[in-house]
Amino acid sequence: MIAKAVENILEEQQDKFLIPAELVANVLEDNRLDHAFLVLTKVKYAKIPVLDNKQHFKGLLSLAMITDTMLGLNGIDASKLHDIQVKDVMQTDVPLVKLPYDMEKIMHLMVDQAFLVVVDDNNCFTGILTRREMIKAINHLAHELDKRYLVEARDQLKA
Ligand code: AMP
Repeated sequence: MIAKAVENILEEQQDKFLIPAELVANVLEDNRLDHAFLVLTKVKYAKIPVLDNKQHFKGLLSLAMITDTMLGLNGIDASKLHDIQVKDVMQTDVPLVKLPYDMEKIMHLMVDQAFLVVVDDNNCFTGILTRREMIKAINHLAHELDKRYLVEARDQLKA
């Protein structure tokens, strides 16, 4: 369990965590890999969400997932990219987050994920939580904690 004071201060910041869906670059599961390759190259993000045409979250796509399909015995072959769809190569085992946020779970997941996908109860894509925004919230917490709560070392209390 994380300390209640920490949880409270982080929760106050939670409206600022989310990058809303309309600001998040994405591709559709039916898009061809040549299109997805262009999108990923242009947006310069390592990995982006994959949606269906009704805004449901389907998976994640990285450049490496695309370039992997280009590797052949005779070097790199991009000619097949138009014949493969995003849904054929995307990552589907993705941890998902829903509101209300469970701050402890989010912090655990963010150890290994640069961003977390937020969905609603219908699996519609709501946005992402990024490590960057989370680190800003933790920085705020570090500055606020002893202004708002009495923080004393246990050793001092014993002395
Ligand atoms: P950051 O913590 O801001 O570096 O973001 C971590 C990761 O989240 C990036 O590498 C991207 O994979 C993803 N990301 C952040 N912002 C966006 C965005 N606007 N659209 C798509 N993906 C994003």
